Amino acid sequence: MKLVDVHCHLTHEKFAKDLDKVIANAKKKDVKVIICSGINPADNKKVLEIAKKYDIVKASLGIYPIDALGLAPDETGLPRHKGKIDLEEEFKFFKKNKKNFVAIGEVGLDYYWIKEEKVHAKMRENFEKIVKFCEKEKVPIVVHTRKAEKDCLDILEKSKLKKVVLHSFQGNKKLIKRASELGYSFSIPCIIDKLMHFQMLVEMVDINQLLTETDAPWLGPVPGERNVPSNVKLTVERIAKIKGITTEECANNIFMNYQKMFL
Ligand SMILES: [Zn+2]
Repeated sequence: MKLVDVHCHLTHEKFAKDLDKVIANAKKKDVKVIICSGINPADNKKVLEIAKKYDIVKASLGIYPIDALGLAPDETGLPRHKGKIDLEEEFKFFKKNKKNFVAIGEVGLDYYWIKEEKVHAKMRENFEKIVKFCEKEKVPIVVHTRKAEKDCLDILEKSKLKKVVLHSFQGNKKLIKRASELGYSFSIPCIIDKLMHFQMLVEMVDINQLLTETDAPWLGPVPGERNVPSNVKLTVERIAKIKGITTEECANNIFMNYQKMFL
């Protein structure tokens, strides 16, 4: 069986002591590829280091909407960036490392933490620039969106981007339908077992548009416990059940989706 975790954060301090073991365990449980996501310049550098060190890890470089504005809280556990992010500088860094990553993300819009419209407008402006960059460089984009799903789709739809992954997408039925009609893919977290929302999403969306992720160390199957990439197996099992196929068939289909999206 071939499993893939298309979105996680191995640069988190919770992995600092035993990353070798975490990766070895993932391999033992049939995980063939892990895409590690960055969220700011310091984090992106670390992501590239990890991807270089471990054969099954690939890099995705990102500019998190809150980090971009220098508004990230101190206790994220990820490498930090002081102040606003200079997007043009970071784009230069991306270009220089083009051979070393498979996607741009996570990027997007997050209206949950900060409610001011002025801040949201600035986030949209940044996201538009990032979308343009992905269009020009022809790289897949991995999108984070929270309480901003419609605005996110509005911006993406205006672009020519086809390779779009919506990670842990919480938008309503109408927005799920719209995104799937646009041909976008959805990466499903392990909490699918607890959240009806993701079960509904999986029912609605064609299997060829589904991917699996953990968002490790967050969104684990056991609340309060560190999530790890090997837990993608749980998501595959759940998707298989909903789609009425075997776990093996489901895993292989999702692995093929990964290859089409990122390779
Ligand atoms: Zn994430």
